[in-house]
Order: sequence, then structure tokens, then C-alpha cells
Amino acid sequence: MPATLMPIRRRQFLAGTFAAGLLTAFSRRNAFAEGSKSDHWVFLSDTHVPGDPKKVLNGKNPNDHFRRVREEVLQLTDKPQGIIVTGDFAFLQGQPEDYKNLKTQVTPYLDAEIPVHVSLGNHDHLDNFYGAFPEFSKKTPLVAGENITVLETPNCNLFLLDSLYQTDVVSGFLGIEQLRWLKKELTARQNKPAILFAHHNLDNSEQTLMDREELWAVVKPQKQVKAYIYGHTHVYRQSVRDDVHLINLPALGWEFQNGKQPLGWSDAFLSRDGMELTLHTLDKTRSDNGHVRKFTWLR
Ligand SMILES: [Zn+2]
Repeated sequence: MPATLMPIRRRQFLAGTFAAGLLTAFSRRNAFAEGSKSDHWVFLSDTHVPGDPKKVLNGKNPNDHFRRVREEVLQLTDKPQGIIVTGDFAFLQGQPEDYKNLKTQVTPYLDAEIPVHVSLGNHDHLDNFYGAFPEFSKKTPLVAGENITVLETPNCNLFLLDSLYQTDVVSGFLGIEQLRWLKKELTARQNKPAILFAHHNLDNSEQTLMDREELWAVVKPQKQVKAYIYGHTHVYRQSVRDDVHLINLPALGWEFQNGKQPLGWSDAFLSRDGMELTLHTLDKTRSDNGHVRKFTWLR
């Protein structure tokens, strides 16, 4: 379930005219040219941050990982427009203390005026999330029971979907109302590439998005959809379906293949013609640290 975290001052500035406000901010900072490298974002997934900062699982301390990435991101000379987390923000059951700790973890981003957008996953819990971040609960959600967002950037439209079905139930679900909303919002935005974000993968399995074919029936005719970005598997990979790039982000909390999979974050540059993702691994000695994934598409 996506939500947007940003500093109070900035949130007030953007209130009611979120997309227009973003464009104003972009223009002021970068005098945007189409396809400019300044459409710069940071993508994270499966952070799995527990309430206890010392908690270790699978030999990993997710709080330490989150902090280390934050320190790297805050040192970037080209400040990103925002952070997007594709779910499993919290540890395992979306406990209130997880989100309380996450609030502390994201505060330096907000202080640096870098908004954080969170698409909650199957280990998240919406009400507990709102318990720690009440300012982000919408009185009138776009779709009842779903927390969904469209971010209009200079080069692309980013759709943050809500695939949380039930906390600690592995599979995900969008639902007919959310799909109706997606179709309507995509149809209204055919002028720029669309990138979809959600937690769950679309593989043919019981542990993925249950209504993946219903999603695809909406996506396939909308030729401006160029990529679907997700987490959930803790595997760094990509594929293509009907000319849409399916991009699996690496996890940050832990992985399941004895170090074979990278843990880290992706530095993302969006343009009208494609997207470039650079992998930054926690372990700087890995051969895949700095690996670049370039995705191109026709307009
Ligand atoms: Zn996960």
C-alpha cells in the first residue's frame, strides 16, 4: 500500500497540486531538458526493518543496512527527487514498533527534503504504518481500502500500486476497484512513459500477485506502460513481457541464497526513452557492485 512521506513544509507546499508542485520544484532546481539525467530517483525494496535496532535475522541486521544506504544516498552530489520503496518496509508482521523505528530511519531523508514513497508489501500493515505516520493517511482514499499514488515526473508517470492482501500472507492482490482506477489513470496519461511499482512479482505461482492476469489485461493495451518494478523475491533479475520490462529490485534486508544475491539499492535515472539503474551493493567487494541495467523503449 503506497504512501508518501515528506517533510511537513514540503507537503504543505505540494498539498492539492502534488504533480504541479513537483514539476515546479524540478524546474527550479534543474531547468529540466527532456530526457535530462536529473530525473533522478533511488529505489529500495524489502528493507524488512524491525523495531529493535539490534535485531539480526539470517545473519543480517536490516537496521544497519538501512542506515548505511541512507548515508550513501545523502552523500550523492545529484540529490534524488525521492526514494521509492517497493514493499516489505517493515520486518515481518508490520508491527507498530517497526514503523516507529522506520520513522526515525527516514527522518534524515525528510530533513534533506527527499520525500520517501512506500508501497507496502505482504510483511507490512497499513493501520500500524499509519499509526506511526498518521499525517499520511488520506481521509478520502482514491480507492477505498487502498493507498495508491501517481507521481508525475518530468519524463515519466510513476504509478505506485497496492498489492498488500493480508499481512504475513505471502501472495498479493490488487482487486477490481484498484484495477479500474489504474485503467482510468493510465488512459488519462498517455503522453509520457508509465512505470508501475508494486511489491509482488508476476510469475505463475501461488506466492505472487493473485490477479496478475487481470492486471495484465489492463496493462497490455496501454502502450505507454514501459516497466513494472517490484520486489518480493529478494532476487536481482529482469525480464520482458509484451514489450514491458519486468524489473526485480534487489532486497536490502536479507537474501536467501547464501550471498549469491546482492543486497543494496538502485540509483535510477528516468528519461523519455528509457531508464538506467545502477546497483550499489552493501558489500563493496562484490563484482556486481556498480552493475548498470539500461532499459530502453520506443515512444
Ligand atoms: Zn521481502
